[in-house]
Amino acid sequence: MNIAVVGLSHRTAPVEVREKLSISDDHIEESFNSLKSNEQVIEVSILSTCNRLEIYSLVKNQDLGVEAIKDFLGNHSGLDTEDLYPHLFTFNQAEAVNHLMRVAGGLDSLVLGEGQILSQVKKMVRLAQEHQAIGPIFNRLLTQAVSTGKRVRSETNLGTGAVSISSAAVELAQLKLGQAQGKDQLMTLESENVAVIGAGKMSRLLLQHLQSKGCSKLTLLNRTLQRAEALAADFPGLEVKCGLLEGLDQCLQISTLMFTSTASENPIIDANRLSKFKRSSILRLIDIGVPRNIAADVSEVSGFESHDVDDLQEVVSRNQDARQQIALEAESLISEEAKNFLEWWASLEAVPTINRLRSGLEAIRKEELQKALSRMGPDFSARERKVVEALSKGIVNKILHTPVTNLRAPQPGAQRKEALKIVETLFNLGESDLS
Ligand code: NAP
Repeated sequence: MNIAVVGLSHRTAPVEVREKLSISDDHIEESFNSLKSNEQVIEVSILSTCNRLEIYSLVKNQDLGVEAIKDFLGNHSGLDTEDLYPHLFTFNQAEAVNHLMRVAGGLDSLVLGEGQILSQVKKMVRLAQEHQAIGPIFNRLLTQAVSTGKRVRSETNLGTGAVSISSAAVELAQLKLGQAQGKDQLMTLESENVAVIGAGKMSRLLLQHLQSKGCSKLTLLNRTLQRAEALAADFPGLEVKCGLLEGLDQCLQISTLMFTSTASENPIIDANRLSKFKRSSILRLIDIGVPRNIAADVSEVSGFESHDVDDLQEVVSRNQDARQQIALEAESLISEEAKNFLEWWASLEAVPTINRLRSGLEAIRKEELQKALSRMGPDFSARERKVVEALSKGIVNKILHTPVTNLRAPQPGAQRKEALKIVETLFNLGESDLS
C-alpha cells in the first residue's frame, strides 16, 4: 500500500486553472463516488480550498494509483492532459505525509501561517468520514495532520498576527491606493467608499481588517439579507449598510473600493455589467473568490481596476521574510509529526504476525486451562476458577508484552521483517506474506 497526494496549488497553477479544479460542496459526493469506485483507491480524502485542490489517497500500486487520480482530475476539470498535467504535483509516501503536515500547519499557504487552512483540513477529515472514504490508516493520518496544525499554532509564533487571505486583500487595497499616489506604502482606508460582497467567513475577516485599517462605514451585500445583517451586528463599531445583491449596480456606480468573496460558481461581475457605468473615479475591485467572482474581461473596462487572489502575492512577498524565519521553527515540529505517523504506519506490518502469535498462544492457554480445571473436579469454586483463568491470561500477556513492543517499535524495515520471520518460524505460525 502507498500514500500519494496529487494536486495543484497557488504554487503550481494560476487562479484560472485552479478555479476549474475546485470541488464545491455540491459536487463532493459524486467526486468521492468516482474516486472510491477505482480499484486502485483504498482510502481517499479531498482538500479543496481557494488556493489548492489536493487528493490524498492510499493506493494499491503507486504508479497506477497516481494515474487513476490524474484521470479523475482530468475528467472533473474538463481540461486536456497538456493543459492540466504541467500544473499538477505528486508526492509519494514520506513526502506526501510531510506535505500534508506542512499544509495543515499553514507552511504551504500563500499567506504563510494563515489560520483558515486548519479549518479546511478539519473539513476534509469530516467530509471523508461522512462519505466513508477513509479507514484506519487515513483516519490516523488526517487526525494527526489536524493536531500538527494545532501544534504549529500553539507552539510557534507563526499563527500570531491574525494573517489571512482577507487581511492580505485589505493590505493590497491599501498598497494600490498608495501606488496610485506614487507612494510605495500602505494608505489608510478612512476616506474610501467601501463595499463588501458576500457575508461568509472571509467577509467576516474582511470587515475585521477593514475596521482595523481605518474604515468606519461600508456597504455589505449578500444573497441572503439576514446573514449580512447578522454579520453587521457583530461589528457595532462599524456603520454597515446591508443589502441584497440587487443593490450591486448601485455599489458599482458609487463605491471606490469593493471586495468580493462569495462562493458563487460563476462570476457575478463581468465587463458587460460594468460597461454601462461612466465613472469619474476609479473603482478598485479585489476579488478573493475562487472560482473568481469577477470575470477576467473587466480589465478591459475603463474606470475599473481589478485584482484577483493571485495578485495578493504582491503584498504577501513584502511581509514574507520575517515570517519565513518563524516558519523554520515550525519545520522541525512538522518533521517530528510526519516521522511519528510513518513509524506508526510501518509498525502495522507487524500486526498480522502479532495477531497470529496471540491466537496461537490463546489456543494453548485455553486448552491447558481446560485440562487443569477438569483435573481439579467439582471441588474448585467458581471464584477459584476465575482466579486461575485470570492467572493464565496474565502470564500470556506478560510473556507477549516485550516481543510485541519490540516488533512494533520504530526500526528499519529489513530489521522488522527479519524479526517477524524469526517469530513466525519459532512459533510455527504458518505461511507469511512478508517479502
Ligand atoms: P462561506 O463562508 O461559505 O460564505 C459563502 C458566501 O458566498 C455567502 O455570503 C453566500 O451567500 C455567498 N454565496 C454562495 N453561493 C452564492 C451564489 N451562487 N451567488 C451569490 N452569493 C453566493 O465562504 P467563504 O469561506 O467566506 O469563501 C468565500 C469565497 O472566498 C469562496 O470563493 C472561497 O473559495 C474564497 N476563499 C475562501 C478562503 C477560506 O479560507 N475560507 C480563503 C480565500 C478565499 P449566502 O449567505 O446567501 O449563502
